[in-house]
Amino acid sequence: MVSYAVPTPPQAHLDITGSDEKFPVRRIYCIGKNYVAHIREMNADERDPPVIFMKPADAIVKNGGEIPYPVFTNNFHYECELVVALKSGGYNISEADASKHIFGYAVGLDMTRRDHQAAALAKGLPWEVTKAFDLSAPVGPITRVEDCGVLTTGHVKLKVNGEVRQDSDISLMIWKIDEIIAKLSEQHRLMPGDIIMTGTPAGVGAVVTGDVLDCSVDGLAPMQLRIGAPAV
Ligand code: MN
Repeated sequence: MVSYAVPTPPQAHLDITGSDEKFPVRRIYCIGKNYVAHIREMNADERDPPVIFMKPADAIVKNGGEIPYPVFTNNFHYECELVVALKSGGYNISEADASKHIFGYAVGLDMTRRDHQAAALAKGLPWEVTKAFDLSAPVGPITRVEDCGVLTTGHVKLKVNGEVRQDSDISLMIWKIDEIIAKLSEQHRLMPGDIIMTGTPAGVGAVVTGDVLDCSVDGLAPMQLRIGAPAV
């Protein structure tokens, strides 16, 4: 029995639709630049391959939550994304075997300090300040793959205060889910509890205190997030 000198951090977890069990989150992998229309709106090179980055597991915010408007930004953006949750993993998973490792899917938000992303890109600096900050990973309940099937198509949609801002289809991903799992596993040993944010379609934008975000992907439980007063 290990005795810890300071309180142990809680295990980050997500709800599972139709179950009292929880899904423990180990790592949050994220794919950037995975929809051509979003690459164009960011004025990035659409021939570059998608990028991989991470958020810490304790950045998770569950469905229906409110987050304070974060410190250290004046341009806080939403990115609505399909999230894939893994039940198993390994190195060098083939595209043919990738779907065997999927536990289920959820709707998530890759919340972004867009002002610092531009600065990080310009200077070649790491992305933690723009992507991996506190409460930057709201994710809804997971739908088990047994209940929704393996997803390859379906609308992905985000509304801000009832107005549609993002409306695309997950079939338009540049790297498909099987390719993402294969590519990631070339670099990292994927494990049960890992989740993958698969990239956002076009239509990203800023939110302010008081905004309500409603996110959905066809066949999955929707997610809502409210933006509260600034963090102190
Ligand atoms: Mn993203």
